[in-house]
Amino acid sequence: MISVEEALHRILRIIIPLCQEKVNILDSLGRVIGEDIFAYRNIPPKDNSAMDGYAIRAEDTRGASVEKPAVLDVIEDIPAGAVPRKKIDGGKASRIMTGAPLPEGADAVVRVEDTEKAGDRVKIFVEATKGQDIRHAGEDVREGERVITQGDIIRPAEIGMLAALGRSFIKVYQRPLVAVIATGDEIVDIDENPSPWQIISSNSYSLAAQIMECGGVPLQIGIARDKREDLVSKFGAALRADIIVSSGGVSVGDYDLVKDVMKEVGNEMQFWQVAMRPGKPLAFGSMGGVPVFGLPGNPVSSMVAFEQFVRPSILKMMGRKNIFRKTVKAILEEDITKKRGTRHFIRACVKYENGKYTASTTGEQGSGILKSMVRANGLIILPENASFLKKGDEATVQLLDCSFEQMQNAEYP
Ligand code: AMP
Ligand code: MG
Repeated sequence: MISVEEALHRILRIIIPLCQEKVNILDSLGRVIGEDIFAYRNIPPKDNSAMDGYAIRAEDTRGASVEKPAVLDVIEDIPAGAVPRKKIDGGKASRIMTGAPLPEGADAVVRVEDTEKAGDRVKIFVEATKGQDIRHAGEDVREGERVITQGDIIRPAEIGMLAALGRSFIKVYQRPLVAVIATGDEIVDIDENPSPWQIISSNSYSLAAQIMECGGVPLQIGIARDKREDLVSKFGAALRADIIVSSGGVSVGDYDLVKDVMKEVGNEMQFWQVAMRPGKPLAFGSMGGVPVFGLPGNPVSSMVAFEQFVRPSILKMMGRKNIFRKTVKAILEEDITKKRGTRHFIRACVKYENGKYTASTTGEQGSGILKSMVRANGLIILPENASFLKKGDEATVQLLDCSFEQMQNAEYP
């Protein structure tokens, strides 16, 4: 039996990031950038006005007030997008709009609320300070500055920055294509009419969704019967993927042929008993250079084992630096007994109230009880050496729902 850490270590050491591809920036949302982005120019490119008002020289407004306004000649009108043609000398002003480039000679903008038009002149009622209401060239981004670093995740803000720098295409890491194979003589697909002793392959869909949720692309290979030839052909069809994930057939039953086929077709397939619950049996190795995960068949075991081992692998392939779910410390709302020597992943409902996380179990915890996952937004991680945890004890909880923190108080009035 090996520990969860040891299994993860042996898996991740053979997972390497995929190649990069060029994509349109809108297709890069949520992906990992494969290049550094340097600014080829200043943003904003030129000094410009932050207000609608008048571009002036601050010294011309010295001592100005409502009673004693400074009166300046208006020599030009500069809407946004226009190029100023006239220089501001002593006693002159230009009408200027927000975003319009500052004319030569001006060193401040006075907002329109502090002025009054008087024919070809303007009365300024306040004393301006140098630089006021001017956005300086390069104040957002300096030419040559690195604004996005290889390995960063592209979010809407990064997409805006890329657009501001005229980049419509960027290099990102490829998304892994992940083949999903369900196995079992009792398993049928979703639209088949199951007889009372048949089971719909929910794993094919929960696994595909888990793959999609972390950015991979699922490739459904279908259901392999518990027969050597069928398994060989399904695994063969899966070889064009970047990762292969199967469910079922890795325990010790007479019809658990997946292991035999994996041994035959795969390189250095390893069959581990991982000291965890659910999800103890786990096969891992490679076939033709493609990493293969043989996950257990029970619906909860397959999902929990995916979370612990496959998800970090997909994220590593996608170039991500942070590949693990966020964990928090939470107060247990009930007593929990467990088997010593095994790490337990208890399906939990996690709440954040009064500055504290609390966690309660989602009921019956059998590895076939998929409802325990449906009701969960986290997994309480009970350490190997523990055997009993009391209500009120603190435990580590892995948050499964990435929108959890934002969702907490997001009820509509
Ligand atoms: P196995 O590991 O093949 O012995 O499978 C264990 C149990 O998991 C089986 O008894 C099935 O009830 C269930 N199971 C296996 N494969 C699937 C699947 N694709 N979808 C849903 N349940 C499954
Ligand atoms: Mg089976």
